[in-house]
Amino acid sequence: MEQEQEQNNNRKDHRDLGRDFDLFSFHEYAPGAAFWHGKGMIIWRELEKYLREKLDKEGYAEVSTPVMVKKTLFEKSGHWEHFKENIFTLEVDNETYALKPMNCPESTLIYSSKIRSYRDLPIRLSEITDRLHRNELSGVLGGLLRVRQFSQDDAHIYCRPDQIESEIKKLLKLVKEFYDNFNMPLSFNLATRPDKAMGDPKLWKKAEKNLENVLKKAKMKYQIKEKDGAFYGPKIDINVTDSQNREWTIATIQLDFQMPERFELEYIDEKGLKQRPVMIHRAILGTFERFIGILLEHAEGKLPLWLSPVQVEILSITDKHVKYAEQVAKKFIKKGIRARVNNENETINKKIREAELQKIPYILVVGDKEIANNSVNVRHYRQGQMGETKLADLLKKIQKEIKDKVI
Ligand SMILES: [Zn+2]
Repeated sequence: MEQEQEQNNNRKDHRDLGRDFDLFSFHEYAPGAAFWHGKGMIIWRELEKYLREKLDKEGYAEVSTPVMVKKTLFEKSGHWEHFKENIFTLEVDNETYALKPMNCPESTLIYSSKIRSYRDLPIRLSEITDRLHRNELSGVLGGLLRVRQFSQDDAHIYCRPDQIESEIKKLLKLVKEFYDNFNMPLSFNLATRPDKAMGDPKLWKKAEKNLENVLKKAKMKYQIKEKDGAFYGPKIDINVTDSQNREWTIATIQLDFQMPERFELEYIDEKGLKQRPVMIHRAILGTFERFIGILLEHAEGKLPLWLSPVQVEILSITDKHVKYAEQVAKKFIKKGIRARVNNENETINKKIREAELQKIPYILVVGDKEIANNSVNVRHYRQGQMGETKLADLLKKIQKEIKDKVI
């Protein structure tokens, strides 16, 4: 127990890891907003790339909406009433504008920009690049976990009532697939109608039943969180457990009957009659900032190979091996693998130690023997010393591991 505690104390905060690995920084000029460095952006971009690949296959359309919008939009959506102390405002042309705290109301404007038929639904609009702002008190800001500016992997799905269950089923599968990549176990919570809810209680019951049916059919274990739903509808909150046994609510799937009502969203049914679609709000990794912060601590800096800013570092034993080291690096880079050479005038042991501290997945040492054999000497950040390997074989192995997102 004591030993375990000691280990926990040795764990680094994501802010330390961010500084040690040159990923991001914070500056007094922008409290609660991260400055992303080149290496940090690689993690961000890889996550975006993964999401886009998935969502393109799942029939999403990626959209983007303005950051600065008139506050009247949030009055119409109900957010102003429930959320105004968190919304940053500014005066422009004698009108009050807001920096958007969420994407939902603007997403409905894209939906209603044309007439929709029952055949068009579900319409799945994802929005993963836009910056959101929420005013958190400066005292509670903390690294990437509590910020004022962030981006969500947000999406809004507009569907017919008979499509709710199949859409939720797809979303649960998507969430599960995503977290399988990080060895993070999930638990599911069904949050039901709060006392101060909007809308018809009968509709709420039905929606809660929809969510419960899907969880049951998918054989997911879940807990009921009484009265913990959003004011506009019930939701499934998905908790993730990290390597320190901490639980985080990151992913969420929320049913919403209110916003379609407030924005008078419509589709034309089989009989030519106007109907209201249902809106589903969902996030898988939540916000990029918070997710990357949690992931760094969960992995203790040892990010999965596919997310590592530097995947391969090549170390030359002496100056005369630098040329070969550079040739090796070129071969990796040509295959889209992030490789670099450390040819500094240091002892090989020091260079290995530095690369290990940087948690670089593959450290390759090259000297006379490796040049003669067209090989490299491999150290892996989890498996340790792997010995001499033919360059061509290692290239294939690493390419496959990146593609398979091996942990
Ligand atoms: Zn939303």
